[in-house]
Amino acid sequence: MSKTVLAAECPECAADVGLDADARVSEIVECVECRSELEIESVDPPTLVRAPEVEEDWGE
Ligand SMILES: [Zn+2]
Repeated sequence: MSKTVLAAECPECAADVGLDADARVSEIVECVECRSELEIESVDPPTLVRAPEVEEDWGE
């Protein structure tokens, strides 16, 4: 049984970025073309926005 793969457009370079069928809103994906970090804004329709700049402060 194959998974349905959604395709969304990269807001940076307009490439098609595949999303897993179980992708969730606010998940971060990476554009295969420009390697931008993108946040899933919506899955129906699949919409990507540039991920907010997050400081790497994972302070454990
Ligand atoms: Zn891109």
